[in-house]
Amino acid sequence: MTPTAFQQNILAWFDQYGRKDLPWQKDISPYRVWLSETMLQQTQVVTVIPYFNRFVEKFPTIEKLALAPIDEVLHLWSGLGYYARARNLHKAAQLINEQERFPDTLDELIQLPGIGVSTAGAILSIAFKNSHPILDGNVKRVLTRFKGVEGWPGNSKVNKQLWAISASLTPTDRVADYTQAMMDLGATICTRSKPICESCPLHTGCVAKITNSISMFPTSKPARTLPVKQLAFLVLSNNTDEVLLEKRPPTGIWGGLWSLPEFDSIESARNWCATKNLHIIDQQSLANRRHTFSHYHLDYTPVLIQTDSPMNIVMEANQTVWYKAEQINDLGLAAPIKLLLQHYIGGKKMTRLVKCVKLGIEAEGFDEPPFPGPKGQEIYEKISKQAWQQWLTRQTMLINENKLASFDPKARAYLAEERSKFLFEGKNEMPEGYVPPKT
Ligand code: SF4
Repeated sequence: MTPTAFQQNILAWFDQYGRKDLPWQKDISPYRVWLSETMLQQTQVVTVIPYFNRFVEKFPTIEKLALAPIDEVLHLWSGLGYYARARNLHKAAQLINEQERFPDTLDELIQLPGIGVSTAGAILSIAFKNSHPILDGNVKRVLTRFKGVEGWPGNSKVNKQLWAISASLTPTDRVADYTQAMMDLGATICTRSKPICESCPLHTGCVAKITNSISMFPTSKPARTLPVKQLAFLVLSNNTDEVLLEKRPPTGIWGGLWSLPEFDSIESARNWCATKNLHIIDQQSLANRRHTFSHYHLDYTPVLIQTDSPMNIVMEANQTVWYKAEQINDLGLAAPIKLLLQHYIGGKKMTRLVKCVKLGIEAEGFDEPPFPGPKGQEIYEKISKQAWQQWLTRQTMLINENKLASFDPKARAYLAEERSKFLFEGKNEMPEGYVPPKT
């Protein structure tokens, strides 16, 4: 297939099937294209859409982004992962804002933090309509299969070969549509597993398809076992239900985000509390959890310690803070830490309930639905409060008998299942509009 035929096929396919209503395809500007390309690195379109919309609503211009505190930027990025992207975006916005113009050449763009040659190519092609090749993950997959390029694309020689192919196929006319089409084709047709070759505009000339060897392209990265790093995260709470948070250094994992104080072992976390002379009223460690980064597994143990010491631990000004656990959603936190704290809050609520049930006293929580949303409220209003209290009492006994902490994942999963049985009479089908509680 000649380059001209390749381009014609791609553009004809785009006219008929390409995506044209993504949020960043409206009001196209270099800023919006740059932001979407940055968010789309290692992240799928469906995930990016709500983040993109919230981001441009808060920071409609580069100037607004440049002048925003980094915490606000990281908060809006929280959950998208790869936070270096957000920090680089913020830094680059400040540089662009100082220059008072958006760079429009490849050399200028790649000087900015976080903008690689492919992102620069996409900005130049889509926002400025200047012909530049791109080579993101999707395009790499299409080209390795179409041309039957062997070798891992992360290898510099193979990468160079793919850039040359991409450059030789990129048109000078309609380059914005072509660039969008190549990204769409990789995302929707030439997918990683089960590509839909019969709908692909390239199938008549595709080497991988013709030789029936699609699964061999792109060549996988040479196998490597990820190392495992072990840590303990301290969930230190005080008598007003605040949790101690610590700001992470600007570089490294979760750079600049708020997190829990981290230690190399449970022992070190406890020793640290001892050095602060904390009066500990309760402590326990939860089961290990795993979070996998691209280059290692992080196995961590949550160490829960409660103190009633009047405390003002300030290890470094602006670097630690006591924060109401219920308000954590307002902070830029790494996703696993946010999840851990959500479990912790849910567990605390349940612990309070359990204590009140044991003592036979009214409890905060008896008078509120055990799950969120208007439908949750409606269901709650219909259940017998006496039966609900009995149910809680029974669960308390079972949890105690099994020596489980109520925020142990096993106990939470068990409670969720039992709660569904109680509320929905064991039916698997949830009523329409019901939002199940997080376990
Ligand atoms: S024919 Fe199949 S393998 Fe080849 S580029 Fe199209 S979708 Fe990918």
